Amino acid sequence: MLPRHRKRQQEVLIVSRYRPYRRRWMLIAALTALAVVCGCQSRLISKDQEIQLGQDAGDDFERKQGRDRDPARNALVNSVGANIERAAEPPDYPYDFRIIASNQPNAAAFPGGRIYIFRGMIEAVGTNRDKIAWILGHETAHVARQHAVRRIERQLGYEAIIALIFKKKSAARIASAVGSLVVLDYGRDNEFEADRMGMLYAHNAGYDPTAAVAVLKLFQEIQGREPNDFGVMFATHPGNQDRINHARGYIEEMDWSGAYYTP
Ligand SMILES: [Zn+2]
Repeated sequence: MLPRHRKRQQEVLIVSRYRPYRRRWMLIAALTALAVVCGCQSRLISKDQEIQLGQDAGDDFERKQGRDRDPARNALVNSVGANIERAAEPPDYPYDFRIIASNQPNAAAFPGGRIYIFRGMIEAVGTNRDKIAWILGHETAHVARQHAVRRIERQLGYEAIIALIFKKKSAARIASAVGSLVVLDYGRDNEFEADRMGMLYAHNAGYDPTAAVAVLKLFQEIQGREPNDFGVMFATHPGNQDRINHARGYIEEMDWSGAYYTP
């Protein structure tokens, strides 16, 4: 048996040897408790972490899907995107508008500001800047209103948060999981909100916001024509007719009139 003071000294040594692990688990426990108590998971991912996560996941998404480098298409998307970025509401993010080399008419928003429009979507709307402005505005709203990061937190939970905090090896798997989540719709309320905010950003950026109605009608048409090949941006709940009605209602409320819809 060790003398009493030696025993205490040994305990101190054991505790100090495990201190980094204890600290880590204490932090995890504290974060978990905080989230459970206040239900405020979104505050657990800082803005910097959100931006980093979105960029990592976006890079992974691009590697898998391929990126369209056509100069004219990229110039168009970058110029409309820059105007939408200036009109977007705080919290501001470093928006980055890119084109995916896929013929599917679709678009997606990653947390932190990486926005993708698919080549198939640009081909579907032509080079119409009003229509592209609303599509980019809709996706930008998913970032600005933090729909994107909140979904990541809800769906991936603490594993993603902890991997981010401790830069675990599972980060690559999480980047891939983020990529598969962002191409899904965000649910009724968030989609309606993104439709409205997209129109507001487009209007504030100098575009005709009534183009939203024309794009939604086009979605409806494509969906009817190619039900298995339509992009997820419009394979949504709410359905297209609900979104058209909602967009018209917002245009009337804002007292706008434009080339694509006049109340
Ligand atoms: Zn959406």
